[in-house]
Amino acid sequence: MMPPLSALNTDILILGAGGAGLFAALHAKKTAPDLDVTIAVKGLLGKCGCTRMVQGGYNVALAAGDSIERHFMDTVEGGKWLNDQDLAWMLVTGAQVRIRELENELGCFFDRNPDGTVHQKAFAGQTFDRTVHKGDLTGIEIINRLMEQVWRRDVRRLEDHRALDLIQASDGAGLAGVLMLDIRTGEPLLVRARAVLLATGGGPTMYKYHTPSGDKSCDGLAMALRAGLPLRDMEMVQFHPTGLLAGPGTRMTGTVLEEGLRGSGGFLLDASRERFMFAYDERGERATRDIVSRSIMYRIREGHATPNGGVYIRMAHLGPAEVRRQFKGMVERCADCGFDLAGGDVEVVPTAHYMMGGVVFDTQCRTPMPRLYAAGEDTGGVHGANRLGGNGVANSTVFGAIAGDRMAGAVTNEPGTLPDCDARAIDAALDRAYGPIGRAPGDIFAMREELLELMWDQVGILRSGAQLQNATSRLDGLAGAVAACGIPDGDRRFNLTWMDRLNLENLIAVSRAICAAALKRDDSRGAHFREDFPQTSALDHSTYTVVRSTESGLHVEMQPVHFTRVRPGESLLRGAAE
Ligand SMILES: Cc1cc2nc3c(=O)[nH]c(=O)nc-3n(C[C@H](O)[C@H](O)[C@H](O)COP(=O)(O)OP(=O)(O)OC[C@H]3O[C@@H](n4cnc5c(N)ncnc54)[C@H](O)[C@@H]3O)c2cc1C
Repeated sequence: MMPPLSALNTDILILGAGGAGLFAALHAKKTAPDLDVTIAVKGLLGKCGCTRMVQGGYNVALAAGDSIERHFMDTVEGGKWLNDQDLAWMLVTGAQVRIRELENELGCFFDRNPDGTVHQKAFAGQTFDRTVHKGDLTGIEIINRLMEQVWRRDVRRLEDHRALDLIQASDGAGLAGVLMLDIRTGEPLLVRARAVLLATGGGPTMYKYHTPSGDKSCDGLAMALRAGLPLRDMEMVQFHPTGLLAGPGTRMTGTVLEEGLRGSGGFLLDASRERFMFAYDERGERATRDIVSRSIMYRIREGHATPNGGVYIRMAHLGPAEVRRQFKGMVERCADCGFDLAGGDVEVVPTAHYMMGGVVFDTQCRTPMPRLYAAGEDTGGVHGANRLGGNGVANSTVFGAIAGDRMAGAVTNEPGTLPDCDARAIDAALDRAYGPIGRAPGDIFAMREELLELMWDQVGILRSGAQLQNATSRLDGLAGAVAACGIPDGDRRFNLTWMDRLNLENLIAVSRAICAAALKRDDSRGAHFREDFPQTSALDHSTYTVVRSTESGLHVEMQPVHFTRVRPGESLLRGAAE
């Protein structure tokens, strides 16, 4: 039986409380203090999502000798020329403003040089040391300060509330609200709003080894697909080369050991304790994430895997005391799992880390659906085929702030009544969430394990057309199995089996989009590698994938990249100080 539906009206509804969501709330309130702003989050504000987990730091061109042009070129070259260059430009210019706001207005304190300037460290794939950090646990500093500032303001918080579906207006002219589920009571809540921000943070948790927080299950991307929105670059899933291999049955397996370990001179060794990276790339361990991840997979496939199926990382040659000083967080994380990072070898494996793909949006954070905005890891186009380490949190804070400003401006400039919600869309969303309750249950855990193994084996770091075809039909089968699977009708409060089922449904929907885009892209670029198409096609004629869900299934098309600022082979640095 469907539960009664409560309703709430607000001016601005923000979905997600990571760097993007919290910045959006602060900026919306700054731009228009009288607006009613609501932030809804699947967990507790400031305690969930990936911004809190940021280790390495925040990319921004601050130091003498660096420049926004250099940061831009690194971002576009790292993205293998698939980036939307206007978005990438917004990222590098906006980062300079946001980092000052973080320190001078919001109270963050980043590590400093002896002369008092902000310390910036090296990250792979960059031509300048520009990563601002707080030790190796930068995200906690950023998110704690953002959380405190949001608490201080008059922002309504809906914690333990998960967004279920976007609800369009009854006249079909854009978004009218979002159907939420109050996880604490199990009751639905319809939130009507004049503007909604999608900032649920993507997160490729459909892979056997993954780094993002457990609350992330691509909900925003799945909701966007169901609403018919276009998603770009979905085949571009970034694998971080060094996820901890702590053994099966622990959530610590897959958690990331940060890039700075390789950047500062760490070695990767195979089962025979041989360094192998130079066999694959002249930069050795300092090659970019995609190359290091692929090289590790080749090494494993060639029969040189460690007992748990990975390789080793070694830091001891840099001096255990120095490693402990520089990488306190990583050393302690390993020690918690019984490993000695400072003095011994630790098993690691590539781990799914970040989705470059996401909802198509513009420099004002508008999506193709009126009144729906998007920011952070839910969006596509900023990073192209690969994200530079350090550009992720810059992305969420830069675009979160823009979204807050623009939504507040739009709502203020267009006062009027709240749009009416489409009643059939509400019923469909309620039915999707509540319909399975009371039907014959199935083994959700086994289905989730099957998805994780399938995505890792067939849609992972090394792909082929045959594997992707096979994965497509197996994903269809899994989607059918989950759709048929019910949930026992019992206590709906904090019902984790129900939440797992909803998560799984979303993960499968987004996995299908990844698979469809990966099949369509018949070249190799950045994070996407096809063993049957190992070459990168002509950069000058670059195209990107756009996936939509239609009544006849997923539809993928290729769109040309517009090189609005610089073409492949050119550089903005020519003539400037290189
Ligand atoms: C271990 C780790 C280390 C990283 N290190 C770095 C680094 O050093 N530098 C860097 O630049 N980037 C790093 N990243 C990437 C970076 O964390 C992300 O790019 C960025 O923080 C994403 O911000 P966001 O606001 O988009 O999403 P998040 O911070 O993940 O926030 C998403 C929010 O949405 C909420 N949510 C999810 N689903 C729903 C739903 N259905 N309803 C309501 N709320 C929902 C979540 O609970 C959360 O509050 C790292 C990521 C990980 C996992």
